[in-house]
Amino acid sequence: MKNNNSYKVDSNGFYGPYGGAFIPEMLYPNIRELEEQYMEIIYSDAFQEEYRGLLKDFVGRPTPLYHAKRLSAHFHANIFLKREDLNHTGAHKINNTVGQIILARHLGKHRIIAETGAGQHGVATATVCALAGLECIVYMGALDVERQAPNVRKMQMLGAEVRPVQSGNKTLKDATNEAIRDWINNPVDTHYIIGSVVGPHPYPDMVTRFQSVISEEMKSQLQEKTGRDYPDYLLACVGGGSNAAGAYYHYMDDLRVKLVSVEAAGLGVESGQSAATTTLGRDGIIHGSRTLLMQDADGQITEPYSISAGLDYPGVGPIHAWLNRSGRAEVVNVTDQQALEAAFLLTRLEGIIPALETAHALAALEQLDLKEDHNVVINLSGRGDKDMDAYSAHLPGEKKKFTTD
Ligand SMILES: *Cc1c(COP(=O)(O)O)cnc(C)c1O
Repeated sequence: MKNNNSYKVDSNGFYGPYGGAFIPEMLYPNIRELEEQYMEIIYSDAFQEEYRGLLKDFVGRPTPLYHAKRLSAHFHANIFLKREDLNHTGAHKINNTVGQIILARHLGKHRIIAETGAGQHGVATATVCALAGLECIVYMGALDVERQAPNVRKMQMLGAEVRPVQSGNKTLKDATNEAIRDWINNPVDTHYIIGSVVGPHPYPDMVTRFQSVISEEMKSQLQEKTGRDYPDYLLACVGGGSNAAGAYYHYMDDLRVKLVSVEAAGLGVESGQSAATTTLGRDGIIHGSRTLLMQDADGQITEPYSISAGLDYPGVGPIHAWLNRSGRAEVVNVTDQQALEAAFLLTRLEGIIPALETAHALAALEQLDLKEDHNVVINLSGRGDKDMDAYSAHLPGEKKKFTTD
């Protein structure tokens, strides 16, 4: 199946057979309003001027493309890190929330809702709501509220109201359902900021466009550093898939670039405890779009598991379902243990503590057939501060060698 020679969204909101807007009738007006206006608004001069200005002065872009020399020597290839960890709030998520908050104002909305799992998207949303002076309500599973107390406190300090969700497993999926319910009840004044390239069209495309600043910068940075504006390999971890979609965007139709999507295999792909969505998933519908979904024989969604909260989602953005099923992107699976080891390796070789999500992308280097002259870019989606408890609990035995010398 070819999609006009392009992996980008078609005019009906589909990527091959994936995507679309499978929503309750009550949501039609909201989604239609957004679909009719988003392109015109985000490519208007007024929007672009404000967006670019905030990316530069508030978020801290462009983020560096760092040539990791000791990591390169270790893997016998030229490895570059796209430093999304250096963004304000510590990850790529702010690229999207800055874009959506400006969009919300252009649409005349003054109330913002969002869902969050680990709290990273909630913090990024509460941050831009404070910036714009808009009301902010974040739905979060009650279990996650307990597990992610520091992010809950940040959101509250930023002025957001965190609403614990008591239904289902009390995690991300349930928080998303609750946010959708809120939106149905408040269609006129509310904008829903979705945190990844998931949800009904036009969200996957809109979020991809906001994150595409990553590959836009990468092109000129690679040109400057390597004399070529494209890498041989481009790696990113995939939860919903927003950092990967942004890193791939300007290279999707450039077949010289091998796209590698890294999924969380948890305790192992066959263990029953993983979030290896495209490997294990079958076609299904979740949160408004058709995509690959982890489900049992009856079509019930299987609970995902990963040590990394940001990758712990049973679906994947429809763009990634299509990139994988069309053969454009290769999927690599990485277990909790492999991700932890990669995080320690990067930290000791380069002095950068990555987020656990990002550590999955780093671990995939072990599984590629790299050559000395290959240029490899890894999208370093976020920093590891939030993961220090997990890292401390798993510090390798060689630790003693470093602390008692
Ligand atoms: C949320 C998060 C992810 C996963 O989300 P995507 O939409 O797949 O990018 C990855 N890395 C970090 C650091 C995150 O915070």
